[in-house]
Amino acid sequence: MPPRPRRSTASTTAPKRERSTSSSLSDAPPPKPKASTKAKTKTNGTDKKVKPKTALADDAKAGDDDPTVIEDEPPKKKTKTAKAKVWPPPELSPENHPPRNGYPIFELPSTSASPNGALPPHTTEKRPMLLGAHTSIAGGPAGALLRAGKAGANGLALFTKSQRKWASNPYEPEAIERFRDLMKPKEQGGLGYPPESILVHGSYLINLGNPDETKWNTSYECFKDDVYRCHQLGIKLYNWHPGSTVGACTKEESFASIAKAINRVHKEVPEVVTVIENMANAGSNIVGTAFSELASIIALVEDKSRVRVCLDTCHLFASGYDLRTEETYAETMKKFDEEVGNGYLGGMHLNDSKADLAGNKDLHENIGLGKIGLTGFRCIMRDPLMSGIPLVLETPAPEKALETGDFAIWMREIKLLYEIQGIEDEEWSNKKDEIEQRWRKERDSINPPKEKGPPKSKTAPKGKKKSKKDDSEEDED
Ligand SMILES: [Zn+2]
Ligand SMILES: [Zn+2]
Repeated sequence: MPPRPRRSTASTTAPKRERSTSSSLSDAPPPKPKASTKAKTKTNGTDKKVKPKTALADDAKAGDDDPTVIEDEPPKKKTKTAKAKVWPPPELSPENHPPRNGYPIFELPSTSASPNGALPPHTTEKRPMLLGAHTSIAGGPAGALLRAGKAGANGLALFTKSQRKWASNPYEPEAIERFRDLMKPKEQGGLGYPPESILVHGSYLINLGNPDETKWNTSYECFKDDVYRCHQLGIKLYNWHPGSTVGACTKEESFASIAKAINRVHKEVPEVVTVIENMANAGSNIVGTAFSELASIIALVEDKSRVRVCLDTCHLFASGYDLRTEETYAETMKKFDEEVGNGYLGGMHLNDSKADLAGNKDLHENIGLGKIGLTGFRCIMRDPLMSGIPLVLETPAPEKALETGDFAIWMREIKLLYEIQGIEDEEWSNKKDEIEQRWRKERDSINPPKEKGPPKSKTAPKGKKKSKKDDSEEDED
């Protein structure tokens, strides 16, 4: 059992929902993209060879949010015609984007607390819920912004490179420029995705919790490369899985080796805020399943203005944090505030759970149709703590949804979440069931539930995967 971090450590140094990084997030001049020292080639950071396995379609199998990088077009050409491609791709052209969801902005209940950290300074201005989905970077990182626009999202997540390869080509300057141009406000010709609306998801290969020097160094290089890419793109929030002891050390040693990486990357790459994700699988070697573990890592971080937490609702639920009712939601968030500190919340992954509370299984389900249910997500959407930070869907979608540019599931989920946000307490109990039924039908028509056998046993080897030696290769979450 990990030592209980002194909460004072975390919460006194964390600006109480009022951040020191705040101004730099919105106002800082974009860092100059430096020429990378690495070998230069001509992809836009997208790995063309990645297998077209989609995306969130079966997170159960993939272990997590698994929006695999894929091509939008059939991989017919082997020839290098990248230069000849039109930009933006016609099917993603901003002219065809639907109106942005979530406007007008819902009036959140007043709160005495100032807004979350890692955000622009609190003003009296109403802040939108930056709700979106994990989108593909096929065709280059700017493609993720176009896809988010096409889904009517106010926020998004993306990988900076293939998430299952240790090394990828550096970005072309043109790819960086496109991304930065599209982030700009609409009045300036962009799509209006400011830095605080984007939460990069790190590579799945990284395990900084294993103190083995060679492995740690390999992971660190990949981690730093991810963070550096964020810096190049002008993104401020980088989220990754803290890691696993792989049974080779104690949890405490893992916390230390994770914090060592965070401290080092803060010195080697400017500005980017490192956002630790909470994990499913409590009781395993996986680090970060309990609030106390997240707090233990944060306690060892020197520059606390550059560390945050991303809470995945499915992982929370799997690890025993209940979110099903107003009361349990409030209780869970109170624990978070006490043990970690609300000021450290930097983003959310919104996923319902196919598995039961404390089931230690990371099985994502569509919003409101799993064991958490709509009420928990309505609580999130009405919580002022959640405004102004990326809220990212990683929910199941039809096979190849991303490849075919089919955002139907996420578009509906985004709409649904804004819809339930606006329903008053008195009406909620009357409307809840009807909304759920309507949505379930809709979901089933877009992505019929597959008849699957019972979930695979955790102890059974998963086909092709890993020699359980190094779960850094693919942690089960
Ligand atoms: Zn997950
Ligand atoms: Zn994740």
